[in-house]
Amino acid sequence: TRPFNFSAGPAVLPEEVLAQAAAEMLDWQGSGMSVMEMSHRGKEFISIARRAEADLRDILAIPANYKVLFMQGGAIAENAILPLNLSRGGRADYVVTGSWSLKSQKEARKYCDVSVVATNEGDGHTTVPSPSTWALSNQAAYVHVCSNETINGVEMHELPDLKALGSNAPLVIDCSSHIASRPIDWSRVGVAYGGAQKNIGPAGLTLVIIREDLLGHALPVTPTAFDYKVVADNDSMYNTPPTYAMYVAGLVFQWIQRQREGELSGLAAIEARNVAKARLLYECFDTSGFYATKVVPEARSRMNVPFFLPSDSLNDAFLAGAKERGLLQLKGHKSVGGMRASIYNAMPLAGVQALVDYLNDFARRHG
Ligand code: PLP
Repeated sequence: TRPFNFSAGPAVLPEEVLAQAAAEMLDWQGSGMSVMEMSHRGKEFISIARRAEADLRDILAIPANYKVLFMQGGAIAENAILPLNLSRGGRADYVVTGSWSLKSQKEARKYCDVSVVATNEGDGHTTVPSPSTWALSNQAAYVHVCSNETINGVEMHELPDLKALGSNAPLVIDCSSHIASRPIDWSRVGVAYGGAQKNIGPAGLTLVIIREDLLGHALPVTPTAFDYKVVADNDSMYNTPPTYAMYVAGLVFQWIQRQREGELSGLAAIEARNVAKARLLYECFDTSGFYATKVVPEARSRMNVPFFLPSDSLNDAFLAGAKERGLLQLKGHKSVGGMRASIYNAMPLAGVQALVDYLNDFARRHG
């Protein structure tokens, strides 16, 4: 009954989650309070926070020696918080695969020596440079990648094995726009961070999942509230956390756990659905003879799909027609142009099918 919303973020959330949040808005489980009105130190909210963390650990199979931090400031703040905590003022290696990793390395330069060890700028951010070509340093305090570039639609389908590449540095991934869309290989990751407003919940919450041995190395100038060790030691309650966003994220985690796809359940079911959705959409572009995509097939994102009409002069008509059919927020990012369909976890296959039907119809009328 609702339109299909292809926003890159803040983005569509599962209807069941929104309905549950609405039903509990005035009185959370007989407490007489909205979650928004609860003390973060009261037993009600602590139970919500504990369950959210336990469910996230379950979904992503987070090992016991990793801490889960619920923070604020978004992934952009993490661009500074991360080097403050991990760089020890030394060197960090950055891989540039699109607009977000470009921004990350720029911010990190305020706090440490940054080396861009690989970049796809030469091909307009449409590939993932092969890890074997990365010029990794053995002095780097960490290696940073953006594992899904939301704006450019470039995804790392396999995380690099830094050890096999001769680096002992921990891998840091900005996984804002594909977290909980597929499993994470923790044996390859030291820190995973992301803003919540794509696959996890409302804006205002940042997740940081960090291996314990990486805590406790913050530069002295690090704001106390952004010192990962302080946040971890205080169960993410050194300052008041974004309580309502955490609650909604918790409902999303429960929703993920309930998902079934044939024999598959939970994250495996979500991933299978994401694979099917992305295949349906890319197949439409590949066979249309009308639309173009630029990212090479091996690096195509399952979550964010930029595409182009044969002429920009058709863009307004395309967007107007889409809106009439209840297909919202398809305009591309201004730095890339064209269109972009973000098809996060909460976008059903029916939504992608409705988009494909419209794409085919539009191509027939304008081709
Ligand atoms: N990194 C990635 C991959 C993103 O997609 C975004 C937001 O779209 C950001 C960083 C910035 O996140 P925020 O605006 O929450 O700081």
